[in-house]
Amino acid sequence: MPLQEHNYWLTTADLPKIELRSLPDRVDVAVIGAGFTGLSAARTLAKRGARVAVLESETIGWGASSRNGGMVLTGMKLGVNQLLSMYGRELTRRMYAASLETIDCVEQIIREENIDCDFSRCGHLEVACKQKHFDDYACQAEVIAREFTHQLRVIQRHELSAEIGSRIYYGGMVDEVSAGLNPARYVAGLGRATMKAGVEIFEHTRVQRIERAAHEGNQGWNITTSRGSLWAREVFVGTSGYTGRATPALQKKLIPIGSFIITTEVLPEALAQELSPRNRMIYDSKNYLYYYRLTPDRRMLFGGRAAFFPETNKTIRRSAEILRRGMIDVFPQLRDAKVEYVWGGTLDFAFDIMPHAGQLDGMYYSVGYAGHGVAMATYQGQKIAELMSGDKPENPFVGIPFPGAPLGLYNGKPWFLPFAGMWYKVLDWVG
Ligand SMILES: Cc1cc2nc3c(=O)[nH]c(=O)nc-3n(C[C@H](O)[C@H](O)[C@H](O)COP(=O)(O)OP(=O)(O)OC[C@H]3O[C@@H](n4cnc5c(N)ncnc54)[C@H](O)[C@@H]3O)c2cc1C
Repeated sequence: MPLQEHNYWLTTADLPKIELRSLPDRVDVAVIGAGFTGLSAARTLAKRGARVAVLESETIGWGASSRNGGMVLTGMKLGVNQLLSMYGRELTRRMYAASLETIDCVEQIIREENIDCDFSRCGHLEVACKQKHFDDYACQAEVIAREFTHQLRVIQRHELSAEIGSRIYYGGMVDEVSAGLNPARYVAGLGRATMKAGVEIFEHTRVQRIERAAHEGNQGWNITTSRGSLWAREVFVGTSGYTGRATPALQKKLIPIGSFIITTEVLPEALAQELSPRNRMIYDSKNYLYYYRLTPDRRMLFGGRAAFFPETNKTIRRSAEILRRGMIDVFPQLRDAKVEYVWGGTLDFAFDIMPHAGQLDGMYYSVGYAGHGVAMATYQGQKIAELMSGDKPENPFVGIPFPGAPLGLYNGKPWFLPFAGMWYKVLDWVG
């Protein structure tokens, strides 16, 4: 099959078909974005009795939620020592506990809603690209065991062949709690579950403007969309890497970053087994990292920030070749394997590389997952919905400082990304 510029996961999933209807005049909550964050929030709100409309400029799961690697990961993007120095012991403990809970949250929704998405607690493996990265694993595992009573297993270089069929790494670290799934099937199932809970989802409905407005004596918001307007008592924003001008304050706090994935043809069973004997979710220790896994039908799925800019036809095509070379560096056994699919998507980084949730300008939001969004987005959607319903759920990410760009030098257009990309490459070279 010739190379397709298309998201492989979509060939395996059946996304809900939704009839285009006119917008209601008023709802309790308008949720912007139909990815993991927005759908999870909408489902929880509706189960608590709210009338909810999800407004999505494209279709369910169109954003990062159908395009990602399907790695349901514990931990956060930042390492534990950095977290401890930024937030202290008590708050970091709560954050780490929450990161473990995110996996249970995804698993519970999948069970409750019977979502057929190949969810499996296969664990993740981080592999060290340098000796000093490996030396740090033992220290990290020790801190995590002591501070968070969570066990990670350090894998010496000579034991690594039981985990991965690559000789380029200096060792690894395994977390058995992480999981894998098919993201397009998961977001399709979450969409169906959300509608079953009573939520109305409006696709092809781009939110253009949100203004404070009272309605029959109630404070709320007037929302102008590409298909008319509606009034909502509350707004929840779940637009992640696709956050735009409708929510300018949030847009200024987020950096959209392109990430790209290739998948090979279906591999022979013996070769797949050699490359990933335990079928882990794998990523390496670089800043400019590679992440990879086998798909349930035994393709190698190999991703990375091949270009730093969000996806366009040009960046996607260029990424296919860059990623293929990267994949062969890791697995020379795949030299002759055909690459059948390439696609890209946009994820969001906050300036401190942390997830953030709460209220900004009076609107609720949850963003900033930095490539750890499958689990965290689902979890935060649920937690913020609970908060909006009047509960006080434990959520250590609400209320932490949410920094903008240094000196305020950013209007939401990431002109500095090529420089950031080069800087990360330099750090990988020297670090
Ligand atoms: C290539 C890639 C690989 C990744 N791999 C992993 C992984 O393996 N593990 C992991 O944990 N995370 C991964 N991530 C990150 C993860 O996919 C995201 O963090 C997560 O999907 C975010 O979900 P979300 O619902 O917040 O945003 P999205 O799924 O991006 O959804 C946002 C939605 O908002 C809509 N929208 C935006 N503006 C408007 C508007 N004005 N009006 C209406 N709708 C609007 C968009 O159309 C979009 O559908 C990856 C991301 C990418 C791109």
